[in-house]
Amino acid sequence: MTDGQWLFVTFLALYFIECLRWWPPQTLLIHGNPEKRRLAFRRPLAIFSIAGRCPLLLPWLPPFPVWQAVSAWRLIPERDAMRVKADGVRARDELIPWERLALSQDAERLRLAAGVEVIATCEAEATALRALCESWQNLPATQRGAAFADWALSGNDTDAFLMRLSEARELTRGLRLLGGVIWVWCYAGISLIYWRLGEGALLYASLVVLGGLLLAQALLFRRVCKKRAPAHTAPAYWPLKMLGMMFFPPMAIRAADHLLMPDAPPFHPLAAMSLLPEGGRELARHWWREARYLPGWSQPDRTPGSEEQALRTLFAANEMDLNEVDPPPPNLAVMKGCPRCHAAFDSPQASHCQDCSGVELAEAGSRWQP
Ligand SMILES: [Zn+2]
Repeated sequence: MTDGQWLFVTFLALYFIECLRWWPPQTLLIHGNPEKRRLAFRRPLAIFSIAGRCPLLLPWLPPFPVWQAVSAWRLIPERDAMRVKADGVRARDELIPWERLALSQDAERLRLAAGVEVIATCEAEATALRALCESWQNLPATQRGAAFADWALSGNDTDAFLMRLSEARELTRGLRLLGGVIWVWCYAGISLIYWRLGEGALLYASLVVLGGLLLAQALLFRRVCKKRAPAHTAPAYWPLKMLGMMFFPPMAIRAADHLLMPDAPPFHPLAAMSLLPEGGRELARHWWREARYLPGWSQPDRTPGSEEQALRTLFAANEMDLNEVDPPPPNLAVMKGCPRCHAAFDSPQASHCQDCSGVELAEAGSRWQP
């Protein structure tokens, strides 16, 4: 490869690194056009988990859409303990008795007790989660479930979510537009000039134009950061970011991303469910089964947990039918099935799913009731 090709590939690789986020697996990226009510979602790649975080590539081709991180609940206040949700259907949740709860925070890491922590998407989110945990801890045991359901409902308002997305879209419109122009100029314009004409006056002129674009983006970023309130949502290090944008095109292209992180516990993905394609509904089915068929679950139903109660309320608010959210395990007509992981069992001795830490199996041919 020629020097020019090497440079192009290096800059493209650096750009992809700039687009990469390492988020907890429960976080979802929702992007699209809120005015047209047409949204799409991306999930972190769970197979590459490193220290509780998985990679996710932001939409990288211009025109850049506005995005928001949303997240399924990680912490559920039960009557006697705080439930820390496990990652994945076969893992077991952690239950921390309220008297053992000792909250401390280190940037995005929120520690709940010795050896138990959750990783938030960003520091502001971890701070907000901590305040929420403290408020639940101070409540009488009987009020925790209701407080959780109230909070869950407030994070499930589709209109509020669309409003947040529209505001973010308005705020970052210029940054995203200019970012797209820099992208095209960098990866198509300059590369093409260098490839067809080599080094020469035109190449130098195009580099000067690029310098002007980078400076304009850095100044625009400064203006938007000053405008954005409250102050804690703007990165404290934005002068440093500005400097980076003036000399490093990938950073200037992705300038808007710094202003799109959540500044509070993020919305639950159900808030955007009615605007997502069918894949979103599949996620809702997973959350429901994880919340309802807890390890050790058996018929007849015991008292539902806070999460199950909150999800019932949210599904009703979203006009989602429980029969559609919780279909019977496949092959239940002829084989026993696990309501949580949907594995089928043909052994007559099997009574509980060991993968799900002892969830009672639904009998073959039984009448299914979600
Ligand atoms: Zn199972």
